[in-house]
Amino acid sequence: MTDAAVDRLRMQDPRKQYPQPPFPKQPQGAPGLAREMDPKPDHGEASYTGYGRLKGRKALVTGADSGIGRAAAIAFAREGADVALSYLAEEGPDAEEVRKVIEAEGRICVLLPGDITDETFCLELVTKAAAGLGGLDILVNNAGKQTNQADLDDITSEQFDRTMKTNLYAMFWITKAALKHMPAGASIINTASVQGFSPSKGLVDYATTKAGIIAFTEALAKQQIENGIRVNAVAPGPFWTALQPSGGQPQEKVAKFGAEVPLGRPGQPVECAPIYVFLASQEASYVTGEVYAATGGKGTT
Ligand code: NAD
Ligand code: MG
Repeated sequence: MTDAAVDRLRMQDPRKQYPQPPFPKQPQGAPGLAREMDPKPDHGEASYTGYGRLKGRKALVTGADSGIGRAAAIAFAREGADVALSYLAEEGPDAEEVRKVIEAEGRICVLLPGDITDETFCLELVTKAAAGLGGLDILVNNAGKQTNQADLDDITSEQFDRTMKTNLYAMFWITKAALKHMPAGASIINTASVQGFSPSKGLVDYATTKAGIIAFTEALAKQQIENGIRVNAVAPGPFWTALQPSGGQPQEKVAKFGAEVPLGRPGQPVECAPIYVFLASQEASYVTGEVYAATGGKGTT
C-alpha cells in the first residue's frame, strides 16, 4: 500500500483530514480543469487502494476526466475493472492523467471525448464503450452542468436547455442505449446532489435536474430489477471539484466552500469513490432504488 493510502485509511479526525477553507479565488471557464485547481483535489491517484471487488467488470463513466467521476473511474480500475471515460474534448489534458493511472493498473482505458448534449453522440458513446471494453456491466451517469445565477431572469433559455440536456436528457439517452448491453448483475449509478432535496436559490435550473435524477433513479430501479439490474444514486454535498470555480458558485463562495457544513470543509472526490464502488459491486446485491448521501454532516433536508 502507498503511504498516501495508509494515511487515508488511518483513524483520524475527519474535519482535519483534508484542506479547509479559506481557499484562493480561482476563476476558470466552464467546464474547468482539475489540474488548475488550488489546492489540487484528491481523486485517489495515490491514495485509493482496491480489494478486487470489481474484478473483470466493464464500466462507462461520464464526466470521468475530473472530480467525482475521475475518483470513481480510478477506484473502479484499482478494484479490477476496465473503464471507458466520457468527457468534453477540451478536457483532454485531465482525461490523459486519468488514462495513465488506469493503465498503470494494467486495466483497459477507452477514451471517448464528445458532447453528451447531442443524442447521436450519446448513442455512439455507448456503442464505442461496449465495443472497446467487450461489454458493459457498470454505468455511471455523472457528467453535470451547474451555473449559478442570482435571479431567474438571468437564466437564459440557452443555459436552461444545456443544463437539462447535460444532466437529464443525456442520462436518459445513455441509459436507454446502455441497457441493451447490460446483463443481470449490472449496476447503474447516477450522480444526483443534495440540491435535489434542498435546493439553493442560485441553482434553480440545476436543482430541478437533480430532483429529476432522483425520481428517474427510483422509477428505473423498480422497473429494471425485473432484469436483475440495480439502479442507485449518490447525492454529494460540497465537493472540491472544477465544477465549482468554473461558474458553479460565485468566486466569494469558492473561497469559503464547505465552511457551511458540520465538517467545516469540502469533501475530496476520493471520499465519494468508495460509495460508487460499493453500489457498483455485488456487495450491494440488496441495494437498489436508493439515494446515498455524502454531505459532510449537513444532511439532505
Ligand atoms: P467536474 O466538473 O469535475 O465534473 C463534471 C463533468 O461533467 C466534467 O468533467 C465534464 O467532463 C462533464 N460534462 C459537462 N458537460 C458535458 C457535456 N456537454 N458533454 C460531456 N461531458 C460533459 O465536477 P464534479 O463536481 O465532479 O461533477 C460530477 C457530478 O457531481 C455532477 O453531476 C455534479 O452535478 C455532481 N455534484 C457535484 C457536487 C460538488 O460539490 N462538486 C455536489 C453535488 C453533486
Ligand atoms: Mg472535467
